[in-house]
Amino acid sequence: MAKLTYLAGLMTILCGTAVAAPNPAQLDVLPTKTSVYETHTVSWNMWWGENAQQWRLLNNGEEICFGELVVNGNSKQSASCQTQFLPGENQLQVSLCNDDGCTNSATHKVIAEEPELLAWQAEIAYPAGSFILVGKKIYQAQWWTKNEQPPAKVWAFVTEQGAALSAQVATWKDNAQAAYTIQHDDLCAYITDGIIHNGIPELEARGLQGSVGVIAGNCADYHWQAVEKFAAAGHEIFNHSWMHVSPVGDTWSDAVEISQAQQKIEQHAPAAIEFYAFPEDQATQGSIAALKAEPNLIGMRSVNYWQARGVNDANTFDPYFIKNDLFTNSGIWSVYEGSDDILRAYVDDAVAKGGWALRTFHGVEDTSWEMVPLTRYQGHLDYVKALVDKGKLWVAGASDIIRYGMSRRSCATQTDAQYNGNLVVSFDLSDAQCQKYLADETELTLVVNTDQDVSGLSASYLNAAQEQPKVTVVSATQYLVNVKPHAGSVVLMAK
Ligand SMILES: [Zn+2]
Repeated sequence: MAKLTYLAGLMTILCGTAVAAPNPAQLDVLPTKTSVYETHTVSWNMWWGENAQQWRLLNNGEEICFGELVVNGNSKQSASCQTQFLPGENQLQVSLCNDDGCTNSATHKVIAEEPELLAWQAEIAYPAGSFILVGKKIYQAQWWTKNEQPPAKVWAFVTEQGAALSAQVATWKDNAQAAYTIQHDDLCAYITDGIIHNGIPELEARGLQGSVGVIAGNCADYHWQAVEKFAAAGHEIFNHSWMHVSPVGDTWSDAVEISQAQQKIEQHAPAAIEFYAFPEDQATQGSIAALKAEPNLIGMRSVNYWQARGVNDANTFDPYFIKNDLFTNSGIWSVYEGSDDILRAYVDDAVAKGGWALRTFHGVEDTSWEMVPLTRYQGHLDYVKALVDKGKLWVAGASDIIRYGMSRRSCATQTDAQYNGNLVVSFDLSDAQCQKYLADETELTLVVNTDQDVSGLSASYLNAAQEQPKVTVVSATQYLVNVKPHAGSVVLMAK
């Protein structure tokens, strides 16, 4: 609803303060019927009486123009502003206010029709008042006409439509082609301390987020200090059991290995622990059910590794069956065994498929089982960082990726194009999956395309109290906007 200008009436000051609410304003004559394409000047007068300090023009209760007034005894006050009307009914009212209160004018109703805009055709007879579209220009017939093409005099130019916008939610955050999680299992096994000394520092040197699995019942103080530090730096901390016993053996207990571990880690991490990986990637159906019943756990690494290796499909992954690829130095047990570098091959496969790769490592340059040598790890992270910089890869913890993917799939997006070219994007959050996976802070990336070059895009929540969404320029016809669906509808406007 672009409000063009307003002109407040100017007056000289004669005397002091008000002692009562202002006298009511009267709206000047307005049509009762118009179209959404026409701009009208709405004027009002307060002919005589208690003066106002501010005025507001309201349409259906929403402020559309506002101005300050000069108090001048009981003298006349007036002002005007230009506006277009909303499709359907517009209830206009002027509110005048001073220190003692506000007084509203009588309401004036304007119906604004939104006639379908069709291209001009020579053989059609147009009655006076008809609208047509020529390119992006809207014209209105001043009298009956046939076979007179704009810019013939009969056609009055009304307005020009802006660039048409379209928007959809990107498959992955920031419209990356693929997602990647770098997990290190077995923190607190002591032999994996290379995660602390080598792994996380190498990730941080490249601005990459890691994901660390904690064996909660085995941690020393220095491990918990590392957990706190990693979580505060934005890395994901996940639950990797209490004592890493076999999930299909006699000593396994869901209450201890899942719930107790969960509580212990959450005592040390500033945020909820949301992801779980069973030791050996094995579990009974009963243990998986117990895991699903934990309120904070929104996903887990799949069991049955042999059936669950490779890339997760963006549109069908199951949050409780996240496929991974296990690192070994020889490549044995990897889907990519036999390739030059299983690390690169997995990432490349994810980019090619537009899916999500979850790499499982243990330690880095330490004494752990199948530790990754530091130089190999560094080379891999350099490769990953280059893909991130090219916009091809989104590197994040498993729970962030699950939240994004499941929210995209279950929180329905609606786009509503307005006649002036603005696009309103809203989200239906009623779906149960959407409610589960869309956190207050979850951001989805809108890919916004325009049908012509524009100099920029502005994005704002309808709820003006929200911090405005971030817009990234891709090209003169494409923009990315990260929005929080919980913050409500967003209006996109080409500049
Ligand atoms: Zn493990």
